[in-house]
Amino acid sequence: MKVYLIGAGPGDPELITVKGKRIIESSGYCIYAGSLVNKDILNYCSDSTKIYDSASMTLDEIIKVMEEAKVKDVDVARVHTGDPSIYGAIQEQMAELDKRNIDYEVVPGVSSFLAAASALKQELTLPGVSQTIIITRIEGRTPVPETEKLEALSKTKATLCIFLSVKEIKRVAGILKPAYGADCKVAIVYKASWKDEKIIISDLANVAEATIQGGINKTAMIVVGDVLSRNFEYSKLYDKHFKHSYREES
Ligand code: SAH
Repeated sequence: MKVYLIGAGPGDPELITVKGKRIIESSGYCIYAGSLVNKDILNYCSDSTKIYDSASMTLDEIIKVMEEAKVKDVDVARVHTGDPSIYGAIQEQMAELDKRNIDYEVVPGVSSFLAAASALKQELTLPGVSQTIIITRIEGRTPVPETEKLEALSKTKATLCIFLSVKEIKRVAGILKPAYGADCKVAIVYKASWKDEKIIISDLANVAEATIQGGINKTAMIVVGDVLSRNFEYSKLYDKHFKHSYREES
C-alpha cells in the first residue's frame, strides 16, 4: 500500500503525466483538491474507487482516509493541482504519514506557471533579457518572509510568475512599478489550459484596471518581465557559429 501525491497538472486532463494517470486508474482511493483540480481527471478512476474532495476536509480527515486505506491495503491517489511541490501543502501530509509509517511517493505535475507560459507562447528565459524565473506570491493569510517581499524581488528584474495574488493586482503592480517601469508588460493568464482560459496582456500602469474589467479575481497567473516584450538575442544553442559537445560547427 502506498499514498501517491500526484500533480494533476494545470487543468487540461491530458496534461497529467502518464504515471499519474496510471496510478489514479489503479488506486482504491482518490482524494482530490476539488477547488482547482479539473473534475474530468476523476474519469480516470475505476468504478470502485472511493472518491473524496479535500476542499471540505481538514488535514486530520485526509490522514484518516489514508489510514483506512492502509488497513485495507489499497493505494491512495492524493491529487493536487499543478505540481504538488508548489503551494501544495504536501509537507504536512508527508510529516503525518511519516509518523504513521505509511509509505508515500510524489509524482510531479505540470505547474500552472508553465501552462501560462504555453498559453502565452512565451519563453520565460530569453538571452540578453532574463535568465531567472521567480515563483512567488504576495502575502495573504500565509505570510511571506521579509527578504522575499515583492519589493525586494523586484530588484532582480527577473521574470516573475506570481501565484495566488490576482485579487491584489493593484497592489502588486504598484510595488513592481519602481523597478520594472510602468511600461513593463504583464500577462494575466486565467485558468491556463482550461476551456475557459482567458489572457490579458497589459503593462504595469494599466494591468489592474484591465484585470478588474476582465472580471478576473482568482485562478490566474501574473507573469511580469521584459521577456514579454520579446526584444531578445537568439540563443547560442542553435547558433551555427557556436560549437558544443553535441554538434560540431557547421
Ligand atoms: N500547485 C499549483 C499551485 C497551487 S496554488 C501549481 O503548481 O500550479 C493556486 C494558484 O495557482 C492559483 O491562485 C493561481 O495563481 C495558480 N493557478 C492554478 N491553476 C492555474 C491555472 N490553470 N491557470 C493559471 N493559474 C493557475
